[in-house]
Amino acid sequence: MREKLQQIKEEALLKLKECQNSQMLDELRVKYLGKKGELTTILRGMGQLSPEERPTVGKIANEVREEIEAAIEETLKQIKQREKNLRLSMETIDVTMPGRANRIGGLHPLTKALDEIKEIFIGMGFSIAEGPEVELDYYNFEALNIPKNHPARDEQDTFYINQNVVLRTQTSPVQIRVMENKKPPIRIIAPGRVYRSDTADATHSPIFHQVEGLVVDKGITMASLKGTLDAFAKRMFGEKTRTKFRPHHFPFTEPSAEVDVSCFVCGGTGCRVCKGSGWIEILGCGMVHPDVLRAGGIDPEVYSGFAFGLGLERIVMIKYGIDDIRLFYENDVRFLKQF
Ligand SMILES: [Zn+2]
Repeated sequence: MREKLQQIKEEALLKLKECQNSQMLDELRVKYLGKKGELTTILRGMGQLSPEERPTVGKIANEVREEIEAAIEETLKQIKQREKNLRLSMETIDVTMPGRANRIGGLHPLTKALDEIKEIFIGMGFSIAEGPEVELDYYNFEALNIPKNHPARDEQDTFYINQNVVLRTQTSPVQIRVMENKKPPIRIIAPGRVYRSDTADATHSPIFHQVEGLVVDKGITMASLKGTLDAFAKRMFGEKTRTKFRPHHFPFTEPSAEVDVSCFVCGGTGCRVCKGSGWIEILGCGMVHPDVLRAGGIDPEVYSGFAFGLGLERIVMIKYGIDDIRLFYENDVRFLKQF
């Protein structure tokens, strides 16, 4: 029986040396140490031995088992190392290959300009208000002193949802909505999309953006309006910018004005951007009409206010010398990445 054990041991160690992979190793483990394995069979036969022989043979059998187990462990380690090396050699990275640059997006020029405008007005104590783009005729026209028969309605070619609902043609309806919900003092700007049924060309688009402004409080005068918009122009276009208020007419303000800024390209001497005049028109404004204050539930005998509205695209086009409004909406990266 001792010879038999010795033989099993030698055979097992030899086979383990030749073992190439983990599957073969498993087979050897079963063959020698498994429940029906050779060593186990021997141990089961120990009952036939004499009581004197049993401890000695048992001891040898255990030693053989331990040796085989240790050899299996060692072989397993070697196999794993070999497989790992093989895997690593197949996954070699070619460090000389050129890298792939990450393309980082940027803000749209309109978003950028709007952020700048918001920051300027927030710095002057304004907050941001919003209103619906699908708007009631009442807020878009009626409450802003533009009754059904008013010629201004013909000028604005409007998208009508039905007789009483339109896609807002201006951000001005937000003025009424704010006044209805808030007691003076009111100091808001309302940026947003507006719609006109215009055919798109270099200067027209059926969708564009406006920024509305409204201030209502006791003792608000034309001087407040001029001071506020002059401060805005200087922040937006540069400290040397001068402003000029030209009388104009809007149904919802009285008196009304259009605001020009001194050309920030030529400084006022005349150039291509200002078409030789030295001035560039940037927005419309005025003192809120008493009827509009009343429509917002505010007593014009107690309170007064001013309002203004600017076209965001127009401001950005002037600032960067962009000559076609359609460029803003085409999403051409060659255009967008210039900003
Ligand atoms: Zn100029």
